[in-house]
Amino acid sequence: MFLTKQLAPRKRIALIAHDHKKLDMVQWAVHNGQTLSKHELFATGTTGKLVEEALDRPVRKFLSGPLGGDQQIGSLIATGDLDIVIFFWDPMEAQPHDTDIKALLRLCAVWNIPMACDRASADFIITSPFMNEAYEAIIPDYGGYLRRDVSANS
Ligand code: PGA
Repeated sequence: MFLTKQLAPRKRIALIAHDHKKLDMVQWAVHNGQTLSKHELFATGTTGKLVEEALDRPVRKFLSGPLGGDQQIGSLIATGDLDIVIFFWDPMEAQPHDTDIKALLRLCAVWNIPMACDRASADFIITSPFMNEAYEAIIPDYGGYLRRDVSANS
């Protein structure tokens, strides 16, 4: 028996790209503009502005990543309000908000959120048949964790 949640055909997709990956993100978004037009887009501030201009469509923009945008997206994941994360992070440069990036990667794993960290993975996700239909996603059961005995620690 699994806990599940139903993802609607119209997916809520978060886009985040580090500075050296922004061109990649814009090119990917333009290449997949037709598919993306069927879904709702969210993004960190600067990435969102670039994608909005490139696609000429609204993107719900949060703060810039290093200013808290990654955490705002993480918050939506925790509340079940995002379906997919496309996160082109830069493996060649340390970021001032490394801890926030790690937190976002972790939350996607915690909540079983499909995440692509490069263009090839993003291509596989965007071309999945699940993009156009409802999808029953398993929600990990954290009941045991929530009911754990913490009395010895008090
Ligand atoms: P940005 O944030 O889109 O505002 O540049 C991305 C990031 O660095 O997390």
